[in-house]
Amino acid sequence: MRSFVFDAMPSRVLFAENAIEHLPREIEQLGARRALVLSTPQQEALAKDISRRLGQRSVGVYPHAVMHVPIDVARKARDEAVRLGADCVVAVGGGSTVGLGKAIALQSGLPILAIPTTYAGSEMTAIYGLTEDGMKRTGRDRRVLPKIVIYDPLLTVDLPAAMSITSGFNAIAHAAEALYAENLNPITAMMAEEGIRALAQGMPQVAKNPRDLDGRSNCLYGAWLCGAVLGTTSMALHHKLCHVLGGTWNLPHAETHTVILPHAIAFNYLAAPEAMGRIERAMKTPNAAGGIFDLMKQLNAPLSLKEIGMQHDDLDRAASLVTEVPYYNPRSTTREGILRLLDGAFFGRRP
Ligand code: NAD
Repeated sequence: MRSFVFDAMPSRVLFAENAIEHLPREIEQLGARRALVLSTPQQEALAKDISRRLGQRSVGVYPHAVMHVPIDVARKARDEAVRLGADCVVAVGGGSTVGLGKAIALQSGLPILAIPTTYAGSEMTAIYGLTEDGMKRTGRDRRVLPKIVIYDPLLTVDLPAAMSITSGFNAIAHAAEALYAENLNPITAMMAEEGIRALAQGMPQVAKNPRDLDGRSNCLYGAWLCGAVLGTTSMALHHKLCHVLGGTWNLPHAETHTVILPHAIAFNYLAAPEAMGRIERAMKTPNAAGGIFDLMKQLNAPLSLKEIGMQHDDLDRAASLVTEVPYYNPRSTTREGILRLLDGAFFGRRP
């Protein structure tokens, strides 16, 4: 076996239906007495419920998280945390809310307790993102990794089926690219394969019945693993494509990951046979790219860039932006090759 470094994330994780009931004990364990609860405006009611559960240990709710963490939103949130004398933040929601918590932690060093309600997986990474003047920059910093994560499948039953499915493919994308990452190790490979397996099992259950708790548990467990491998490996072509498309044309995050995934996998297929074998085993399919596409179709996920707001005229520029700055990918990328990939994704052709 070749030598490797496995950078384990030091979070404490609770995973159970009703795990949220242990929140006061966990806050105590963190040594915190004044928690500020963060959410989006859409999840304010849930944040208030969390705050109520914390009683004296909550200093209030800050329900202003938005997508991609604009820097002014992050500064205002940090100022509010300082004004209220908060000694920790509780982030309840998806990647946007966890992202706001990370921005506060980065500026103040306050610990984060995360309660994820989507499958984005940000709670398992030390990666943060901040948007300034329309440009999103990302970085890694140990301070932003949540100290405690509470996964409670009951909190995810209201995530609409369509969002659950695109969020699930977003998670699978992390694991798929981890499997051909240049810094992959055997532990991460095991986690990535199991993450894909759990999501491929859970998503059809959730699509059929969004309140199916077994399906919700499978998806959340898969999302945890996929987030963890995102945090410990470096991503390649798929994430580069989504970063460019999302950042330049403001395409919706999880939908973009969904549409691009089978095409990025097809592009890298011959260059990463071991990774493809693991994806195929996890999804019980003879072909990783085709299998992902077929599952998307079966679950009524968006299949084309066209239907999520991209214009065909912009593909040329996208291909240039993707290939301009070199980055690791198992197969070398050319402008023409990427343009072909994007054309297939634009029309939603089965790869
Ligand atoms: P999101 O957090 O923006 O949530 C989308 C919407 O769904 C919000 O209105 C939210 O309030 C609502 N919602 C969330 N959970 C719900 C539930 N259970 N029921 C009903 N509504 C619910 O979306 P997301 O896809 O989770 O996160 C996307 C963001 O996360 C992007 O900005 C992305 O860059 C970031 N991200 C970061 C990392 C990282 O490691 N830093 C990893 C993955 C994603």
